[in-house]
Amino acid sequence: MSYRLVSILIYCLVFSACHVGRTLTVQQAAQPAKLPSGAPQYSDVCFSSRWERPRNAEDSLETFQSARNFHATYLNWVYTTNPNFIKKADSLGYRLQVALTPSLPDLPLGSSTNEKGRILNKSGQKVTAPWMKGWNNWWGCVNNPDFQDSYFAHMEAAIQAGAYGFQVDDPAMGFLLLRNKWEDVCYCDFCQKKADSLGVPPTDIQEVSVKDFHRKMKKKPRSLQVGKYRSPATISRGLGAFPFW
Ligand SMILES: [Zn+2]
Repeated sequence: MSYRLVSILIYCLVFSACHVGRTLTVQQAAQPAKLPSGAPQYSDVCFSSRWERPRNAEDSLETFQSARNFHATYLNWVYTTNPNFIKKADSLGYRLQVALTPSLPDLPLGSSTNEKGRILNKSGQKVTAPWMKGWNNWWGCVNNPDFQDSYFAHMEAAIQAGAYGFQVDDPAMGFLLLRNKWEDVCYCDFCQKKADSLGVPPTDIQEVSVKDFHRKMKKKPRSLQVGKYRSPATISRGLGAFPFW
């Protein structure tokens, strides 16, 4: 037996003796993953064109042709509220995951403004994320009924058109701005009133308000009268991946 082999053997014995009873191997520690309902299956080929493409006359890419090229089955994280696009995805056999954002536009659907129901700082100014400065892309307040109505209307329209599930951008919403010290928020009338009723500053109610908002939005679609594209059972399944946080 070579010196090298003996050394390795001794090392293994010492290592094992030191770790017996308190360290598990990867194979012993690993637990089978439990996929949330609505999550991609292992057999899925996930694909994202991010937006509906082509985006303009110069865009040479087309979402569905590109998806076919990659043998995609599940179109994820797509910024669209266009029912015609969602219906087309559904008719071609793709499951489509629509992206929801804190800056969804005002009602009526199809509007490109985002002015109503927005988060306000102490000076009464609308705010946005640092990387969105200059876009006029103001974030909505979870305590403001105008923003709640807009958020749910976009979810409802997507489900009616055949969306399978949702991806939620920046789910901590206004609390994300506060937590990262990007903005001191929210001082809209609704946050101020809610905070006053609890005897705390408006900043103290942001985290719990965002969590309440997501719980509410997750429950609401279950009561929808859906069209021909999705049964209530499928909606519930698809929304399983819609997070509280
Ligand atoms: Zn507010």
